[in-house]
Amino acid sequence: MMGARYGVIVCPKCGMAKGVEAGKKTTTCQCGRDIDLKRVKLMFLTDSPLELADSVANANASLRGGGQLPADKKAKKRDPYAGIAERARPVKDPLERMKVVSAELSRLKREFTIEDLRRVAAVLGKDSPEDMLARLLEHNLVYEVSEGAYRAV
Ligand SMILES: [Zn+2]
Repeated sequence: MMGARYGVIVCPKCGMAKGVEAGKKTTTCQCGRDIDLKRVKLMFLTDSPLELADSVANANASLRGGGQLPADKKAKKRDPYAGIAERARPVKDPLERMKVVSAELSRLKREFTIEDLRRVAAVLGKDSPEDMLARLLEHNLVYEVSEGAYRAV
C-alpha cells in the first residue's frame, strides 16, 4: 500500500494552511516562506486532489475563525429551515419573501404547517409565522391541503 499522495500543512510563519505533495521535501508558502516539510506536521492525508482542496479550505476557514482544525472533514448537516431563511432574507418585499418561504417549504416537505413556518421565521426574525400564514392565505398564495397543512400554489 502506497502512502497518501497529498496532505495539508500549516505555514509556521503566516499560519495559513497549504496543500502539498507528500513526497516533496520543501514547499514555498504564498507568504514567501520556504517550508521544510520534515519539520511540519502533514495532516488530512489523502490521495484525492479534490479532497485535498476541501481540507485546505476547511483548515483555512477554521484557522481564520480562530477555531480548532476540524477533526472530521464532513461539514455539519445543514438545517434546511436555516437554508430557506437565508434564501428568503434578501427579498425586500414582505409578501414576496413569504412566497419564497412557502415555495421552499413546499418543495422541502410537500406540505407544511405553522410549525415549519415558525422554524423559518425564527431564523429570519422578520415576520411572525401567524402573520405569514394569514397573508399567504389572504393572497391565495398557499392553500390548505388538509387540516393545518399548507402548500404553495
Ligand atoms: Zn506562509
